[in-house]
Amino acid sequence: MSPSGAEVIRQIKQQVEEVDPAEVSEHLGNGVTLIDVRESEEWDRGHIPGAKHVPRGYLESRIEGAQPDRDARIVLYCASGQRSALAAHTLEDLLGYTNVASMTGGITLWKDRGYKLEVPRALTPQQRDRYGRHLLLPEIGPEGQAKLLDAKVLLLGAGGLGSPTALYLAAAGVGTLGIVDDDDVDLSNLQRQIIHTTDRIGTPKVDSAEASIAALNPDVTVVKYPVRLDASNIMEIIEGYDVIVDGVDNFPTRYLLNDATVRLGIPVVSASILGFDGQLSVFKPHDGPCYRCLYPVPPPAELAPSCGANGVLGVLPGTMGLLQATEVVKLVTGAGEPLVGRLLLYEALGASFTELKVRRDPECPICSRPADEISDAEMGVFPDYEAFCAAAG
Ligand SMILES: [Zn+2]
Repeated sequence: MSPSGAEVIRQIKQQVEEVDPAEVSEHLGNGVTLIDVRESEEWDRGHIPGAKHVPRGYLESRIEGAQPDRDARIVLYCASGQRSALAAHTLEDLLGYTNVASMTGGITLWKDRGYKLEVPRALTPQQRDRYGRHLLLPEIGPEGQAKLLDAKVLLLGAGGLGSPTALYLAAAGVGTLGIVDDDDVDLSNLQRQIIHTTDRIGTPKVDSAEASIAALNPDVTVVKYPVRLDASNIMEIIEGYDVIVDGVDNFPTRYLLNDATVRLGIPVVSASILGFDGQLSVFKPHDGPCYRCLYPVPPPAELAPSCGANGVLGVLPGTMGLLQATEVVKLVTGAGEPLVGRLLLYEALGASFTELKVRRDPECPICSRPADEISDAEMGVFPDYEAFCAAAG
């Protein structure tokens, strides 16, 4: 005669290691992977901070996304300790994990003991549908999506780089997109600036970008700055943003932006393009090098796109803009390794990517000092730009 369900559970619980919530609380974040195996509705009502969510029904297919190392220490929990014991048994017995435990009493006992809970921002049914493919990724999931919806990202320019970046960040659900651009849409822009359309030629780029974003995703609030970024307005505009996407085409603004963002501690995802070549890096103040560490003096003037009209392959800003958008999503959600201290070079004709290490300059005039010591007068110091361009011939 087959044993009853209750008997099977009792037997399995005897085989599985069980740990007390006190022990779990003590080791939170210390190399222990904590996994919540409950259903999504239960997870959304509150879970243990730092836990990953792998519902028991998806255990076999998603556990490797949460912890691929078979010998890593894993603690599972559910509501009462029963489902997590069964899941622990599955991990050890069928999937070859060697160091798995189930938390006694589940999150019910955890709460009774007064330990902390994290309650994620609740997504609406429409948002669950819209961002469903993000929710399936363990690295993003509902918390990552909530971070995206709460994020404020500032785009410098709604041009070649800003267009694809803005569209994809809007599609990904970045809740607030600021756009700085004082230009109008021009026919010659449309070869690459895909956020604009032929019928909007002559209208301000910030308005055109706002219209495209609104049509794509009503979750996104667009904040428009139809101005040119300069020393008089930069601090006021950039303050409060979580990440800045730099697609500006002139070096003086790049230096000014660098100095202001180091002062405020805001990471910058920076890209530039010329001809068939693009480059990309993430400048995260005091965590990696800044723009001045990379270019203590401006690059040769003949490489300055703003000195004159240079050719650019129309699809190239698409490639570089989407690499920027990817770095933004990683910085906001904490997924992956951002391109900090690395410079990525893309050469479209040869279809090659090259990565260079960039180190912090201990003598850097800006980022080697405490942020609050950087004065207004020091920001954006740059040689005479007309003389600089003239030197390019
Ligand atoms: Zn620096």
